[in-house]
Amino acid sequence: MEAGEFAEIHATVRDFVRNEVVPREDEIEETDDIPADLRRAAVSMGLFGYTLPPEYGGLGLSLAEDVQLAFEFGYTTPAFRSMFGTNNGIAGQVLVNSGTAGQKSHWLPRLAEGAVASFALTEAEAGSDPSGLTTGAVRDGDGYVLSGAKRFITNAPVADLFVLFARTDPQARGTRGISVFLVEADRDGVRVGPKDRKTGQYGAWTAEVYFDQVRVPASALVGGQEGAGFAEAMKSLVRGRVHIAAVCVGMAERLLAESVAHARSSRQGGQPIGEFQLVQAMLADIQTGAYAGRAMVMEAARAYDSGTDRRIGPSAAKLFCSEMVGRAADLAVQIHGGLGYMRGVPVERMYRDARLFRIYEGTSEIQRLIIGRALLRDGA
Ligand SMILES: Cc1cc2nc3c(=O)[nH]c(=O)nc-3n(C[C@H](O)[C@H](O)[C@H](O)COP(=O)(O)OP(=O)(O)OC[C@H]3O[C@@H](n4cnc5c(N)ncnc54)[C@H](O)[C@@H]3O)c2cc1C
Repeated sequence: MEAGEFAEIHATVRDFVRNEVVPREDEIEETDDIPADLRRAAVSMGLFGYTLPPEYGGLGLSLAEDVQLAFEFGYTTPAFRSMFGTNNGIAGQVLVNSGTAGQKSHWLPRLAEGAVASFALTEAEAGSDPSGLTTGAVRDGDGYVLSGAKRFITNAPVADLFVLFARTDPQARGTRGISVFLVEADRDGVRVGPKDRKTGQYGAWTAEVYFDQVRVPASALVGGQEGAGFAEAMKSLVRGRVHIAAVCVGMAERLLAESVAHARSSRQGGQPIGEFQLVQAMLADIQTGAYAGRAMVMEAARAYDSGTDRRIGPSAAKLFCSEMVGRAADLAVQIHGGLGYMRGVPVERMYRDARLFRIYEGTSEIQRLIIGRALLRDGA
């Protein structure tokens, strides 16, 4: 995208997040929902398909551009981003990377216009190691019959489409024999459980999804190829990790802004607490982490876009930034004192919201394993 055009999108998103979404955070938290007018505005700004190719109605942003927007999304409740995160990230990228022409032309324009795609990989005994998944896809005449259960699926209660990972070859072990299917949410046999009750990130919904003898045509098999599912999942998650790292940076910057404002205005012993050097040290630590995270994300996105590093950089950025924002949230609560422990105070909410980033799209332990294995295989 031409630089001037992107600068305009970036400025629009920044203004929207700060002027329209931030003032509604309490409402989103209390109702556990994104207000319909914010959803409509996000659709009309193109946010439901900003990484999807322009020929299918998306904005076609590169990862380096995506992270600039993600820094902005991170500044407010993560629920806002989550609403269109699966379209642009983990679910949508499977279609972009490997969908047939027919699959892309059917689904991508719909997603760009506000339909929702969910990424359904995780199962009860297949989370960190999805190669253990047991959802089955049995060839039957000119189609497949799908059976199994998925859990923690983001946007499942509002999904139009499930990008579903299932085993087509029950004999194959581990990462082999897994395929990916496009399953409409209203197909017979698809059932979404009640919304999960989470620690934080209210307004972003997850649920279990059950597939009970769901019949799909052969054209639902992504790319028309069996056995490519595991590689597809990993490819999509790698890109998502850099995006999540950027959201963490945005949140750390918001935590810093809230903490600086509080340190300036809150007084003890007749002086603003910001005059105490131990409070300044906490602010400095949040700032330093956010600064390092921002630089790391931009470098990881650049290397991803150029194809020079699609392994270590994304995992290192996700690991560092998700841990960094956890520490930043902890410090921000400390700077706020007792107020930081009270509902309705933004840093208290962010303290709960931040915890998820170390768990989903690959835990911190899994990121370390990816980095460690890559180093031993490829050398530093
Ligand atoms: C709010 C939320 C939204 C989510 N959204 C989605 C979604 O949209 N789609 C989807 O498919 N999934 C989704 N997930 C699932 C998420 O990706 C998994 O929860 C995550 O990958 C961890 O898997 P698990 O929960 O099974 O934990 P486990 O894998 O059981 O991990 C438990 C602990 O064991 C550690 N561990 C596991 N294996 C190893 C190992 N080999 N070496 C060292 N340590 C290990 C982990 O790091 C962790 O500390 C979501 C989860 C949450 C909570």
